[in-house]
Amino acid sequence: MIIIRNGTLVLPEGLVRGDIALEGGHIARIASCIAPAEGDEVHDAAGCWVMPGFIDGHTHLQCWTGMDWTADSFETGTRAAACGGTTTIVDYATADRGVTMPDALAEWHRRADGTCTANYAFHMAISEWGEGSLEQMDEVCSGGVRSFKTYLAYDHLRLDDAQTLEVLEAVRDRGGVLCVHCENGTLVNELQRRVISQGIVGPEGHPLSRPAAVEAEAISRLLYLAHLAGDAPVNVVHLSTELGLRAIREAKARGRQNIHVETCPQYLVLDDERYLEEGDDGFAGAKYVMSPPLRKPSDRRALRQAVLAGEIETIATDHCSFNLHGQKDRGRPEAGGDFTKIPNGGPGIEHRPAVIATTFEGELGPCDLVRLMSENPARVFSMWPRKGRLAEGADADVVVWDPAARWTISAATQQQAVDYTPYEGFEAHGRAHLVFVNGRLVARDGEPTGERPGAYVAR
Ligand SMILES: [Zn+2]
Repeated sequence: MIIIRNGTLVLPEGLVRGDIALEGGHIARIASCIAPAEGDEVHDAAGCWVMPGFIDGHTHLQCWTGMDWTADSFETGTRAAACGGTTTIVDYATADRGVTMPDALAEWHRRADGTCTANYAFHMAISEWGEGSLEQMDEVCSGGVRSFKTYLAYDHLRLDDAQTLEVLEAVRDRGGVLCVHCENGTLVNELQRRVISQGIVGPEGHPLSRPAAVEAEAISRLLYLAHLAGDAPVNVVHLSTELGLRAIREAKARGRQNIHVETCPQYLVLDDERYLEEGDDGFAGAKYVMSPPLRKPSDRRALRQAVLAGEIETIATDHCSFNLHGQKDRGRPEAGGDFTKIPNGGPGIEHRPAVIATTFEGELGPCDLVRLMSENPARVFSMWPRKGRLAEGADADVVVWDPAARWTISAATQQQAVDYTPYEGFEAHGRAHLVFVNGRLVARDGEPTGERPGAYVAR
């Protein structure tokens, strides 16, 4: 048995001083004092918060994105996640056109099984819809998938509105949730063309080609489609703009139900000045080429308010890492490229808990951090009550968080297998001191122990 003693337990009912015992992959006991027996492994958590492990509901690991393979594999990505306190990820398995959903699920298992430090579940991203799709959906549901994704942008992935409506109905009928990438792809294509024709080819062109209205229009359209589908459950992923937030508020004010909202640390901490960052011969802005792009300070403030007000339920990363050198630099103008050739995405799987705990220090307490990064993702993605809470019988995914730790985020010391971090130099307040996955110690103070107990989470 593993006994974690003297910590402040972050329980669903609030903060309690006490001990917690892990055995056989589950939480065996929670009590004010658990006396160790001979052979028990004891960890002292004095001064620390003992929390359910964090869940990252939006990752892209070991994945071809249409432009390149991501830098992080399941092995490196889940190891980095665990070192930061994330014990479960939900990754987007993607059925590219011509690939069935069951084949995509099997392929994602081939990539992940046996290599993961953190637990993993899969969403199924769908890029075409037609004959046989319902049967395929049933088959992956019996394989433990309960959440699906569609895109309203990217020509090789997106569905049209009629197809999106049918997917919403199908997901609703199966008790799942549809995650949707909300950007109007037709407008993005046209605006990219216009920006480039003005001679703006560097990374600073990226946000110009994807303005807030492109996101807000797609969110608004999605929420009308979800209404037409009988208030089918939707998860608006990576919300980045105040305008998009307003579209969500308006839908809710019309009485619309079943709208879940996710944002990511980058939209709460960074803004679009980053596209003008000096360095790398004027190409440093490529680090922040992700979709949606970083936004204005006013957007950042609005999203932060929405997090505090509970309008945004979950904070995930959209971790999709590409090296600046050797991958993103394909879009260098002097190499004949432009910003549309820069692979879209950035890293974050390792640093989300520390970035959020630090940037909201004094505004979000330990119970709030658990709600946004563990409990709510577990609920939205059908892992509750097995995950997302400390309770006897729940899975032994536990993070012992030291709020007094001080450290600096840097690519030089990160576990993520990528050559930069958007949070370089960020002074973090708080750190995952001990991280347990399925009752095994996988990380200590940001360093992996080498254990890889991560298992597939069938939902
Ligand atoms: Zn994504």
